[in-house]
Amino acid sequence: MEKINIIGAGLAGCEAALQFADNNWQVSLYEMRPEKQTEAHQTAFLAELVCSNSLKSKLETTASGLLKKEMKLLGCKLLPIAEECAVAAGNALAVDRDKFAMEVTKIIENHPNINLIRREVTQLNDELTIVATGPLTSDAMTKELIKYVGEEHLYFFDAIAPIVSAESLDYDIVYRKTRYDKGEADYLNCPFTKDEYYEFVNALNEADKHEAHEFENIFFETIKFHFYENCTPIEELARRGKDTLRYGVMRPVGLEDPRTDKRPFAVIQLRAENSNNSSYNLVGCQTMLKYGEQKRILRMIPGLKNVEILRYGSIHQNRYLNGPHILNKNLSLQKKDNIYIAGQLSGVEGYVESIFSGLLVSRIIQDNLQELPATTISGQLWRHLIAEQENFQPMNANYGIIPALKERIRDKKLKKQKYSERAIKDMEEFLINR
Ligand SMILES: Cc1cc2nc3c(=O)[nH]c(=O)nc-3n(C[C@H](O)[C@H](O)[C@H](O)COP(=O)(O)OP(=O)(O)OC[C@H]3O[C@@H](n4cnc5c(N)ncnc54)[C@H](O)[C@@H]3O)c2cc1C
Repeated sequence: MEKINIIGAGLAGCEAALQFADNNWQVSLYEMRPEKQTEAHQTAFLAELVCSNSLKSKLETTASGLLKKEMKLLGCKLLPIAEECAVAAGNALAVDRDKFAMEVTKIIENHPNINLIRREVTQLNDELTIVATGPLTSDAMTKELIKYVGEEHLYFFDAIAPIVSAESLDYDIVYRKTRYDKGEADYLNCPFTKDEYYEFVNALNEADKHEAHEFENIFFETIKFHFYENCTPIEELARRGKDTLRYGVMRPVGLEDPRTDKRPFAVIQLRAENSNNSSYNLVGCQTMLKYGEQKRILRMIPGLKNVEILRYGSIHQNRYLNGPHILNKNLSLQKKDNIYIAGQLSGVEGYVESIFSGLLVSRIIQDNLQELPATTISGQLWRHLIAEQENFQPMNANYGIIPALKERIRDKKLKKQKYSERAIKDMEEFLINR
């Protein structure tokens, strides 16, 4: 019987444990709770959902719904349990969090091939192991990982700027240009007049802000300690002074509008998120504003009046590895290839994505999986973890990461349906032909 160690019995770790155990592997699954709690978990149950109870949309025409469909095709173990524990939530798959966690705990505790060991793991050995210790990986394990990845590749925070869809931008207003025309024009620019800028700053100052939890205070002490000034939220910069933003992330120098040759009063730059330029990141605009406020205030940015937000900004404690620099394609560590990384620690973002990651690493190890279709959300999430990129940040399921359709479709609903149909068809064919 083949053997594997899995460290961390969260979403990724439990999915992986069941994938191996059901396939007749002997699994040693390590979980440090309840002996040692994280700042966010509250129970001793495995697969605890630390915040919202929503696993997002069930609709296959949404990116999250499509990812779920792909995961089912790949044989996901936790999604069917989530469905059994679902509560009414319209088109979303929301679960009774205690029921879900208790059910997963029961299945794992009773599984003849899983040995659940309740203790913190502080060292890595030479045995086949998956590390799935999550965004709140314990300090001792963090230090251990640093030995193999280097301190510079272990990130301690997650400052995320919103991502918006390219097709929702107003191209009569935004324009393409890099600062001082250096390099290729990879940026789109949203030009502010003086009045627009001060209205924007006022709105940021008056906006409804997210209340920090205790663990986030701890996290901010970490930020101060590490001087991660470049992840300061825009609302905090606005609070520091009415001109702080326009001398910082919104400075307009070298960004004259080519249509008028005039320099705007301030500029927000958008950087492409992917090679087909279907989604853009608001450079330097990481924010802790509540989602409703983000939507309202982003629409005040010139050119973003009808913006579609693909991912909201956020800042919270999140330990994750700089995958593209330290992981092999099969998600093992370049410097210790018996150790595989799964879950949020590997650079995916979200409950469903973390479950997916546990599933993916299991398939890679058991079936020597080499690839998934490029048109699928799962294929592109995997690619994201290993593809060379500037400023690596955790990624969730969104349509911006998959390649554009061959035909140009204006109707958004139809377009999403086509994306979904293409992905499901390609995944089904891929699995049949394997
Ligand atoms: C505060 C917070 C709120 C979040 N809210 C949401 C949300 O609302 N929606 C969403 O989609 N995503 C959310 N996420 C992101 C992410 O989806 C979840 O964190 C998800 O649980 C990650 O899954 P995981 O399996 O990687 O890690 P976890 O589910 O966190 O599992 C990791 C497990 O490893 C254990 N562990 C850690 N170190 C060790 C060690 N050394 N030895 C043994 N065990 C160890 C932990 O106790 C934990 O049980 C949130 C993240 C955080 C930090």
